[in-house]
Amino acid sequence: MSLQTAAENSFQQTIVKAVETHGIGLHTAVKSHVRLLPAPPDTGIVFRRTDLDGFEIEAHIRNVARVSYATSLMKQGVLLSTTEHILAAIYACGIDNIYIEIDALELPILDGSAQPYIEMLDGAGLRRQKRRRTYLKAVKSMEVSDGDRRIGIYPSSEFRVTCFVDYSHPKVGRQEVELAVNSATFRRELAVARTFGFLSDFDGLRAMGLIRGGTLENAIVLTADDVMNGPVRFPDEFVRHKALDLIGDLALIGKPLRAHVVAHKAGHSLHTQFVTRLLAESSLWVETHAPEAPQPAKSTLRPRFSHPAHATD
Ligand SMILES: [Zn+2]
Repeated sequence: MSLQTAAENSFQQTIVKAVETHGIGLHTAVKSHVRLLPAPPDTGIVFRRTDLDGFEIEAHIRNVARVSYATSLMKQGVLLSTTEHILAAIYACGIDNIYIEIDALELPILDGSAQPYIEMLDGAGLRRQKRRRTYLKAVKSMEVSDGDRRIGIYPSSEFRVTCFVDYSHPKVGRQEVELAVNSATFRRELAVARTFGFLSDFDGLRAMGLIRGGTLENAIVLTADDVMNGPVRFPDEFVRHKALDLIGDLALIGKPLRAHVVAHKAGHSLHTQFVTRLLAESSLWVETHAPEAPQPAKSTLRPRFSHPAHATD
């Protein structure tokens, strides 16, 4: 990374021009139109319900609603569902300020990955703004757990994510990814990884009013022992998608992160509990303007089948 790039990274960014897409929601099957617009410095990532007079919902953990199979925001009774894929794309690309206009209550699932949102952002272009960024930099470790699910944060000079899953399914099993998160690594390693679901869960999910918009075109469907609609895009597409979801939920911190986040069999509910606790415990982090010196390039993605040790981090 050149010094010039490092300096550029310390300034806020927005997009250059408006771009739009449309599709149906995974859970509601409701059709929506999404339009991304440039926003002034210090705006953050803000959704606007254009069907409700432009009602604004900030992409911030204080607005998280119930969380189960997707992350939903709620503000003054106005709901917005399945925010994680678009937020993952925006956060990983280092976009600080953007308006996301939407005319319905759920983001479109598109192909089940973040790639269509990355392509939208490419069409919009990035613009550096005059205001400096404020990073949230972890200075202490913290973990939250729920049974054998856990998620932890550890001091690191860069934004890193490790994600581990363990499903007793012959096409999934134990998978792990670890990467420094930036626009290049996100595009290369995670953006195309799709939502997945187990056929055996579908009746229950439908009975709960979920996955009404799910099709073989927007999710990987796993039967008892196989993938119904292969081929997969990576053998470990499943854990890559979980890492994508995690990054989308970390966007709710509202600031770029300088920390290593390790998620072990976690999901949206634990992710959002974790972000709530992180922001509540201000002794765990500092806010800093200084860009960190880039770390020497490590392998960006290496499957490891043991939980990473953090004693030396
Ligand atoms: Zn997802």
